Amino acid sequence: METIVRPLRVAIIGSGPAGFYAADHLFKQAGGPVEIDMFDRLPTPFGLVRGGVAPDHQKIKNVTRVFDRIARHDAFCFFGGVDIGRDLSVLELESYYHAVIYATGAQTDRSLGIPGEDLPGSFSATEFVAWYNGHPDFRDRTFDLSKKEVVIIGVGNVAVDVARILCRTPEELEKTDIADYALEALRSSDVRRVYLLGRRGPGQAAFTNPELRELGDLLTADLIIRKRDLDLDPHTLRHLAEHPDRETSTKLDTLRQIAERPLKNAKRQLHLRFLESPVEILPGPDGCVAAVRTVINRIEPRGDRLSAIPTDEFEEIPAGTVFRSVGYRGIPITGLPFDEQRGVIPNDGGRVVDVDGALRRGHYVAGWIKRGPSGVIGTNKPCSIETVDLLLADVAEGAVGNPQSPERAAVRALLDERRPGYYTYADWLCIDAHETRLGQSAGRPRRKLTSESEFRQALADMTETSDS
Ligand code: NAP
Repeated sequence: METIVRPLRVAIIGSGPAGFYAADHLFKQAGGPVEIDMFDRLPTPFGLVRGGVAPDHQKIKNVTRVFDRIARHDAFCFFGGVDIGRDLSVLELESYYHAVIYATGAQTDRSLGIPGEDLPGSFSATEFVAWYNGHPDFRDRTFDLSKKEVVIIGVGNVAVDVARILCRTPEELEKTDIADYALEALRSSDVRRVYLLGRRGPGQAAFTNPELRELGDLLTADLIIRKRDLDLDPHTLRHLAEHPDRETSTKLDTLRQIAERPLKNAKRQLHLRFLESPVEILPGPDGCVAAVRTVINRIEPRGDRLSAIPTDEFEEIPAGTVFRSVGYRGIPITGLPFDEQRGVIPNDGGRVVDVDGALRRGHYVAGWIKRGPSGVIGTNKPCSIETVDLLLADVAEGAVGNPQSPERAAVRALLDERRPGYYTYADWLCIDAHETRLGQSAGRPRRKLTSESEFRQALADMTETSDS
């Protein structure tokens, strides 16, 4: 059994919740000196908490206070704006670290595989979310909000976020940290009717109860649910009788209450439909999205799942804009195995498993790239703990990597050459202070900087102020 010469050097790739929860557990449980270097391809930390959580869900973002405390640990170092694969390879990481934890999340979207999916006017919800949250890679995208009808495909919490943001009033949005350009675009939005399409029934809806209630409470939108969609099929009724589930019965009660409420005749209508799948996105004469052709489904058991089975009844929903919100998907990292079907790095409880089935010594995964895009922020905590416990068991066995240069100074020297001007945690604190100050004068939690040039300018201004 080899003994690790301490400090144990660990790289964490990705600074979202899974990365920070892994760092936290390592600091608490390492059983000896440990140094953590966290890398992110973006200049700013916190992953989906900054770039995914909806701007009108500010309270959820308070979790960054916990992450900030972890980042201030003496043995923690943040390298922002560093892309693993481009600036440093997986092989190179092995020269500097005993272990690497990949917590890169799920950065792209699943596709529907139907005709018309790529027509102008059809967008992925993940892009729209990244855009309104000020993600630097998406700030220059444009979304057509001039059309009256919008279809959102999928009824997960991301679809619900998109529907809510489309239906909120400018007065509500201007109290949030939504990107300035998105606020301006939504201010002049012409959207009047939003359709949320669930392919299965209300008993299988992926959204959660607080999110449903929020849709029902929108100030200037009526939530409209067809009563016939709420008549449960025999398979769902049997399933619920055999597996009573409070979350689902509350959801069904809420849906029924909403369906029976009188309408407010609000400015916008939000139609929540079930048992309806898109089969084609249809173009108009200009070649852009004009309608969504759908098929009505029924529920049938298939394997261990109640599935949507198409009938021969079709409908057409006129819509100039479509958001596809059918789940996120991980992307491969050069030098690591990848499960194309599931969009994750193959692993056993968090230990990376190579194509030949052998464990990849010293390489681990946590979060969505480990288990797929499911659960809320807190779900990542037990997921990261499981990974770190295995990593520490491997450390105890001497079964991790054997780096030639286990020093942070060596990593810094290499990055100074390869990625001069990479961002430190101190840089983030300056950017954070700058954004918060900009927000304060506008009565907002922050006004986000969204480009590399804005980040650099803010840092230069800060340096000037502290020098004078
Ligand atoms: P999700 O919860 O997995 O929902 C995906 C939706 O897409 C489901 O309704 C699914 O229907 C549907 N779908 C999949 N393939 C489809 C197809 N071919 N045609 C039509 N519909 C299809 O994914 P998500 O909304 O992207 O959310 C990801 C995770 O983040 C979830 O765990 C979510 O709860 C979480 N999240 C939480 C919050 C929050 O807490 N406020 C906010 C955002 C996201 P089926 O069920 O039939 O497969």
